Amino acid sequence: MSKKIKAIRGMNDLLPDQASIWQSVESQIRLLLSSHGYGEIRMPIVESTALFKRSIGEVTDIVEKEMYTFEDRNGDSLTLRPEGTACCVRACEEHGLLYNQTQRLWYAGPMFRHERPQKGRYRQFHQVGVETFGMPGPDIDAELIMMTAQLWQQLGIQDAVTLQINTLGTVDARADYKARLVEYLTARKDDLDEDSRSRLESNPLRILDSKNPQTQKLLDGAPSLMDCLDLESKQHFDELMEMLDKAGITYEKNPRLVRGLDYYGKTVFEWVTDKLGAQGTVCAGGRYDGLVEQLGGKAIPAVGYAMGMERLVLLMETLEQTEGHKASVDIYIASVGDKVYQTALILAKTLRESLPGRRIQSHCGGGSFKSQLKKADKSEAQYAVILGEEEVDNGTVTVKPLRGQGEQLVVEQAALASTMTQLLGEKA
Ligand code: ATP
Ligand code: MG
Repeated sequence: MSKKIKAIRGMNDLLPDQASIWQSVESQIRLLLSSHGYGEIRMPIVESTALFKRSIGEVTDIVEKEMYTFEDRNGDSLTLRPEGTACCVRACEEHGLLYNQTQRLWYAGPMFRHERPQKGRYRQFHQVGVETFGMPGPDIDAELIMMTAQLWQQLGIQDAVTLQINTLGTVDARADYKARLVEYLTARKDDLDEDSRSRLESNPLRILDSKNPQTQKLLDGAPSLMDCLDLESKQHFDELMEMLDKAGITYEKNPRLVRGLDYYGKTVFEWVTDKLGAQGTVCAGGRYDGLVEQLGGKAIPAVGYAMGMERLVLLMETLEQTEGHKASVDIYIASVGDKVYQTALILAKTLRESLPGRRIQSHCGGGSFKSQLKKADKSEAQYAVILGEEEVDNGTVTVKPLRGQGEQLVVEQAALASTMTQLLGEKA
């Protein structure tokens, strides 16, 4: 026997039981976004490598070591998208969506990063991303955060996530701060971990993000970005916090929150949990007023966020909040006898027409009643509808409750749909 081919490390199959949870969560997210007036945009999975280099930043983890980059048959350098923001900006510019108008957009789909696979960290993972354009004030920042807070509530994870916020100020304020931070850390260079030492020249702000305890201790005495903030950023941030207070959303100010991508400025935020180990960030975002221009467009303010679907579902599972999201069969139709399946398939069709949204599974593949009822039970169906040759002859069916909802009953086939509607009630 030849060797079996396996999936690529860090890239997961999503099996039906899991996929039904994802579908339900995704549809809640879609409803929420649409209720806020956001429109979906779908971008390709592959883009020019230059797009990510120019937007995310040359000296970020993503661009330096995580991208799936390859040459296609024409010799062009292409990259499997590691995130969606740059792609979304590219698409908006290309189709004139940012011309004299505001935009509220969202997308969902796979992203690719060559990281070390572990729980909550994969090489193909899935994000739902939200991007807005043309709105400079803290109102839209607040709307985005309020929207996510509402989602956590709907998914039953609100008590397990906390909101961390920070402001990175304007480009000038950051440059000023960068210089002060570098001065402070250069004087203490010998005590820095190796990663941070190399970042001192390439991307010093990322040192604030370091997971190294000794480096974090060193940072306790470092100058704070808050002290370098320009007035405008300060007011923007204060007003955002005021709005969050009004909306009853609690948050932690985290002056060391910088985010791993270069394009952020002013507001940044993360929703984090302590229930998923080191992979604690479920949703992250911020303002990127400079990115559109950096990619060749006009200067247009923008803010957005992305949530990781795998981490979201993992968290729901950890908190046992997935039960209501599983899809199970409502009615399982069992049929035994010569060509009885023909009546069963027609009955199933009529039932589906009368009970839209219900899951009705008609048994195929033969077998005894006993084995079919076993399958019905395994499918978690509420009711089995049973058909034998006798039932076909006299135009009836037997309806058998499978979850202890009383005695089985015999009904006319013509009355089956109305009986089942009564028994199952309205589909929520
Ligand atoms: P982390 O600090 O965990 O590496 P990040 O800052 O690189 O996250 P972003 O680029 O902001 O992440 O992506 C937004 C969200 O996408 C994250 O908060 C997380 O939920 C999810 N995410 C990012 N990378 C991965 C991955 N490799 N596997 C699974 N989910 C991921
Ligand atoms: Mg990362």
